[in-house]
Amino acid sequence: MKIVMLGAPGAGKGTQAKMIAEQYGIPHVSTGDIFRMNVKNGTALGMEAKAYMDKGELVPDELTVRILLDRVAQEDCKNGYVLDGFPRTIPQAEVLDAELTKLGDAIDYAINVDVPDENIIRRMSGRRACVGCGATYHIVHIPPKKEGICDKCGGELILRDDDKEETVKNRLNVYHAQTQPLIDFYTGKGVLKTVDGTVDSADVFAAIKSILG
Ligand code: ADP
Ligand code: ADP
Ligand code: ZN
Repeated sequence: MKIVMLGAPGAGKGTQAKMIAEQYGIPHVSTGDIFRMNVKNGTALGMEAKAYMDKGELVPDELTVRILLDRVAQEDCKNGYVLDGFPRTIPQAEVLDAELTKLGDAIDYAINVDVPDENIIRRMSGRRACVGCGATYHIVHIPPKKEGICDKCGGELILRDDDKEETVKNRLNVYHAQTQPLIDFYTGKGVLKTVDGTVDSADVFAAIKSILG
């Protein structure tokens, strides 16, 4: 099963993608996580990506597509995957579609997690990410067992630099201009499914499970 997660920054794509990955036994592939890991390790890719990420802008398509295609070519992606944060532009979606078509394959579901902009700003200021393993929490909605400490690895929880309000506003503008058109793209392919992302994360997941079967 090959799944694409769509939705604004902070809509809950990552939260849901992790649950889908666990439930269906497929890898969770997040381009944002791949970029952040490279930033943390100080690689050339990380340095290039960081300049864009800090401004809330998109990393150029050519670089992003290369990273993503390398990742999904790995053995563990053979039986499917859930893509989180990719594609984010029409050209990215077109390249992915062309690569899959070459393999006689296609995306099975594009899950659009729908959350209005007003909710997003509030949600992002409460997001905390683990510096160790990248796990995400929310100080009110999805709190860790112990404040400031990751349940999974004991790492420190921080507010991501790009989750500060000014950057979030720019990311939302970028989302509406460049990523939202993917809703029409995947509607055209007959695979778009929209779920209400404003409800509790367990209820969002229940709605997704009823779509995926
Ligand atoms: P969120 O879902 O909270 O917006 P991500 O972790 O998916 O955040 O992405 C963080 C940043 O990484 C983005 O703002 C962008 O700069 C970069 N990025 C991630 N995925 C892509 C992509 N597919 N294309 C371009 N840039 C990307
Ligand atoms: P995305 O990957 O789309 O950027 P995340 O999954 O990181 O979004 O979620 C953004 C923030 O909102 C995180 O702090 C997360 O814990 C929280 N969150 C996720 N789903 C919900 C939900 N259904 N209700 C409230 N908060 C949520
Ligand atoms: Zn952790």
